[in-house]
Amino acid sequence: MPMKYQIYSLHNYRKIPQIDKFSEQDLKNIDVVGHVLPFKTNNYVVDELIDWDNFHEDPIFILNFPQRGMLQPEDFKSMASVLERETDKVELKKAANVIRHKMNPHPAGQAHNVPELNGQKLPGIQHKYDETMLFFPTQGQTCHAYCTFCFRWPQFTGMDDLKFAMNQIDYVIAYLKAHPEITDILFTGGDPMVMKASILDAYITKLLDADLPNLQTIRIGSKSLSFWPYRYLTDSDADDVLRVFEKVTKAGKSLAFMAHFNHYRELETPALEKAVARIRATGAQIRTQSPLLNHINADSDVWSTMWRKQVKLGMIPYYMFIARDTGAQEYFGVSLTKAWEIFRGAYTKVSGISRTVRGPSMSCTPGKVRIVGVSEIKGEKVFVCEFIQGRNSDWVGQPFFAKYDPRALWMDDLKPAFGQEEFFFEEDLARMML
Ligand SMILES: *Cc1c(COP(=O)(O)O)cnc(C)c1O
Ligand code: SF4
Repeated sequence: MPMKYQIYSLHNYRKIPQIDKFSEQDLKNIDVVGHVLPFKTNNYVVDELIDWDNFHEDPIFILNFPQRGMLQPEDFKSMASVLERETDKVELKKAANVIRHKMNPHPAGQAHNVPELNGQKLPGIQHKYDETMLFFPTQGQTCHAYCTFCFRWPQFTGMDDLKFAMNQIDYVIAYLKAHPEITDILFTGGDPMVMKASILDAYITKLLDADLPNLQTIRIGSKSLSFWPYRYLTDSDADDVLRVFEKVTKAGKSLAFMAHFNHYRELETPALEKAVARIRATGAQIRTQSPLLNHINADSDVWSTMWRKQVKLGMIPYYMFIARDTGAQEYFGVSLTKAWEIFRGAYTKVSGISRTVRGPSMSCTPGKVRIVGVSEIKGEKVFVCEFIQGRNSDWVGQPFFAKYDPRALWMDDLKPAFGQEEFFFEEDLARMML
């Protein structure tokens, strides 16, 4: 039996079967915050993932339903009062945009990653690290449900002039030909797996037919296994999607499905297990990644359980990210010290098979910076840091030291240790960002 995909958003979420459990205040919180931050969920998340007996604390509920604490109290108040007197959509959007603009909608110099070919900007591409380019197919710029912490949120709230999307795979191929150092292309979004199989097939077939010797791995970044595993089971083109995956592996390229999971509960449904098995049967590998989020997974037991379950299902733990400096960071943010403690707490509790995971890592302007640990060197307490990716690949793997600061949440909060003026990469970076 095909599973019917039912979307719930701000306009119809009161139709969910569990709505009687919500208090008036719960509904108001969702209405107010949902006007500012993205809100979309679906019947799989609502009926199979959320534990409604304890929904206020449920990680999956918090992952999808806007929470009052995601807005600063004064912003909540002002949006609530606008909602009370205003029904005009344009006016509501204006009020919401004022709040959104205070929430750092464009973090980590992403606009700097848009490359050029023959003097022309290619807005659907980002190329930051030598070996891997990102491709944002136009039809994949939405998701089966929205994470309340999403850093792509300006795209989903309709405030983004600078949407990183295009439908010109021809430019992608030309760019790949001009850059033989690129081995990986990552399809990203939104979620590329919201695309119809026929569209995904058109992109993939063109890429394979271009016969690019440098292209080794096609990666697909997706949260569909958590939000809609029926994509691979009962959707009308589910089998076609799997055939596209197979086409890649049969062409002798590797297909890396980069699956986004935030909690082990997303790994426990029969639908998820079947979807994983079907994807793996195409020859694709599934690697997993997640940000570390207060209120959702800020607990080392959640991570060790999650990694173990992933390995049991045949997936490979890959990244633990630190929540970005955008959106409701005060709600979701975890200090760097705590992030390291949680990472280490989980990492020490799993076998070497799960220790393929790397983190906790910040995707910031210079690269992916991992907190290796907290240490003391000649009486000075420091963070030991390392690039796992760098805007300049020479930076990768060189340890560097930042002054210990228990409140630091992000790279911007770090200062060089041992009385140094700047970090070793800063001069180089300043030149690259001109
Ligand atoms: C993480 C990331 C990549 C991929 O890096 P890997 O270390 O190869 O997984 C590529 N581009 C951007 C912008 C990234 O953030
Ligand atoms: S699945 Fe990814 S892109 Fe989509 S809402 Fe969640 S974090 Fe954002």
